[in-house]
This record gives sequence, structure tokens and C-alpha cells, in this order.
Amino acid sequence: MQLQVKTILNCIQHFVGFVYKEVRLVRHGDKAKRIEIRLEAHSGVPAKCSKCGRPAAGYDRQKERRWLFVPLWGIDSYLLYAPRRVECPEHGVVVEQMPWSRGKSGISIAMMWFLALWARRLSWLETARVFRTSWEAVCRSVEWFVRWGLEHRELVGVQAIGIDEIHWGKGKRAESFLTVIYQIDQGCRRLLWVGKGRSKAALLRGLAALGQGVVAGLRFVCSDMWQPYLAVIAAQAGQALHVLDRFHITGLLNQALDRVRRAESGRLRAAGSPAGQRLKKMRWKLLCRGGRVRGRARVQLGRLLRAKLVTARAWALKDLFEHFWTYRSVWGAGRFLEFWTWRALRSRIKPMMQVARTLRAHRELMLNWFRAKGEISAGAVEGLNNKIRVVTRRSYGFRTYRAMELALYHNLGRLPEPPCTHRFC
Ligand SMILES: [Zn+2]
Repeated sequence: MQLQVKTILNCIQHFVGFVYKEVRLVRHGDKAKRIEIRLEAHSGVPAKCSKCGRPAAGYDRQKERRWLFVPLWGIDSYLLYAPRRVECPEHGVVVEQMPWSRGKSGISIAMMWFLALWARRLSWLETARVFRTSWEAVCRSVEWFVRWGLEHRELVGVQAIGIDEIHWGKGKRAESFLTVIYQIDQGCRRLLWVGKGRSKAALLRGLAALGQGVVAGLRFVCSDMWQPYLAVIAAQAGQALHVLDRFHITGLLNQALDRVRRAESGRLRAAGSPAGQRLKKMRWKLLCRGGRVRGRARVQLGRLLRAKLVTARAWALKDLFEHFWTYRSVWGAGRFLEFWTWRALRSRIKPMMQVARTLRAHRELMLNWFRAKGEISAGAVEGLNNKIRVVTRRSYGFRTYRAMELALYHNLGRLPEPPCTHRFC
């Protein structure tokens, strides 16, 4: 007995009420062009209404349609079937339910599964090229996959969330930002929601999408100092401990330091001083954490500090702040914060003074970091942000916001997957 393709098909995906009638190889000259897999209804099983799934009386038969199937040995494969129409007592004359097909799509469910999973590993364009289909077909497959996942995901046990804004697109207009909500619990880190804009309204939409129950059950909310977010979090999730994310605060200090460096480098170069050139090249070394600067960079940094430049003083302030995170007690951290802001405000370095004022204004939220007692992981939000960047960058070919949104849920949402009888990839 020889192995037949039908045997494989019956083994990996058997559709109740249907049989594989024949498998044909269509050739073009001496080249294999496509494989056609013809299905037929099982004579003893009545057709089912595609709306409600209940068996219904037959009405008529439509002409044969075809659905793109998972390619076999690199040969395009199609399922062929002439759908029956049924007369459902409730839904009238409708086309029958076909377990391999969803709606009007000409792509079989198995193939949508296949394309959707590959679209996580490759860019959508590459996926389309490798499997000789269109970008739109990949997009539709991912959309089906994601929609199913969102409908079936469970949002129980969400205790900690991170809220952040992500830059996407060009310029600094409001549309160029996305608001994202992550779950950052120890056992489960995933993207819960993404939406356009970074206004109060955007975050309110996101929280509404999670539902009252989830928001009321939150214990920790982690965010940056973006004022609209702070206001919404205070109003909507007042019971949760609101923590300012460490990496955002470090970012704030780094930005201030960089402003100081740029201004001073410009001043010195205008005056013809060689220190100006040197300073221009030191950007990354300065932004590193003090203890991590080694070797030649360490020597350069030492020279900079001895040169009594403003940048050096700003760097020292930034480096000093690292100490803040080492405290165990809220009290100790609070004392240190006072000391640091006092020093910064007397530094006469404008950007650093600005940071000091901002930090002082958010003192309680800053100290919540210590009240959370290590229950919030420092790197969770940053890690997810980096992953988002990987997705948006790889998907350089995303033409629309919608496609990008789908890709983010698809890659970072940890969504449940639609059921399947066989994993093709
Ligand atoms: Zn029906």
C-alpha cells in the first residue's frame, strides 16, 4: 500500500461531514503548478447553517470555490468544494458551514494559521514572498488570528500594569504617539492594549477596554510623568500604588545632561577651545551609568571631570542620583531625594534644576517605588518597550496604523490561539 496525500490529510485534518475525494497535481509543461484537493460532503450528514451551526434542509448547490491551503513541498495547494446552501428556519437561505473556511475569505483556516505564525518570525512582506501570496493575505490571516485571540483572552489576575507612550511615525504631533498598556506581573508580561495618541482620552479608552473589573483589581500601576496619564490613573485606579518607572527617571536625567553637554560643547567650539570637540564625542560615555564606564572612556571621563566643565558637574549630579535606588526604606530615600534636589537647585545648571523641580513635584510617586518593595520589576516596562521597537522596526512595511496594531498584539499580546488539528509550522 502506497502513501497517499489523502491519507496524510485524513490524519492531520479530518472534517466531520466531509470527505477528501481526490488529490490532483496540475502540471504546466513538466513543472508542478498546483495541487488541488477536492472535498465532498458526506452523503449521510446534513449541511449546517453557517450562522448558527444547526443542521438545516438543503436548498441548492453553488459552483465550486477554492481556498488556498498550506503548500506541500513548495507547490501551491488548494481545497476545492462546491458549497451547498441551506434553508435555516431562523436565518433563511444561507451558505453551509465549512470547517476549513471563515466568512468570504479565499484562504483556508489552516493556511491562515500557517501565515499568521510565520508572520511572527518574518516580516509580513517576507512571509508573503516566501509562501507566494500577497501582503494582504498575510494581513488578513493575522487579523483573524488576533481577533480570535482578543475575543478569547482572559484578563484575570492582572495586578500590575505599566502605561507608556511610544513614538510611532514622524514628528511630534499627537498622532505620532501610541499609548500602550502592559501587564507587568511576575508570571505574565504582555501587551494588553494599544491605542492612538497620548491624551487623557486615549488612556481612558484603554482602561475602558480592559474593563471595570480589571481596573478595580489593580494593585500597582507603573508609568512615566506624563501629566495626562497621572491624572487619569489617580482618578481611575486610586486604590493601586502608583509607581514612577525607574528607567523614565534615568531618561529624564540623561536628557538634561545631554542638553548641558550640547550647549557647552557649542559654546566652547565657538570660542575655538579643543575641549569643545572632545565634549562633542562624549555623548554615550556620559549617558552610561558611572560604574559602567571603563578603560579609555574612564580616562576621558576623568579628564573631563578635572577640566571643571559644567558638563562634568552635571554628570556628577546625574551619577549621584543613582544612589537613590539603593535605599531600602522610604524614609531614607526621601531624605536622599531632598538632599539631591537641594544640591541640584544650587548647581546653577538650568536643565538639572528643572529635573530637580520635576522630581520634587512628584516626590510621593517617586517614593512609591520603595513602598512597592520590589514587587515591581524595574526592567519590565523598558523590556516591553524595546520589544515594541523591534516589531515596529521590522514591520517597516506597515502601511496603516491598523496593521501595526495587529502586529503588536500578535507579537506581544500572548493571545490564546484558535484551535487547530495540526500545526503546520
Ligand atoms: Zn441558522
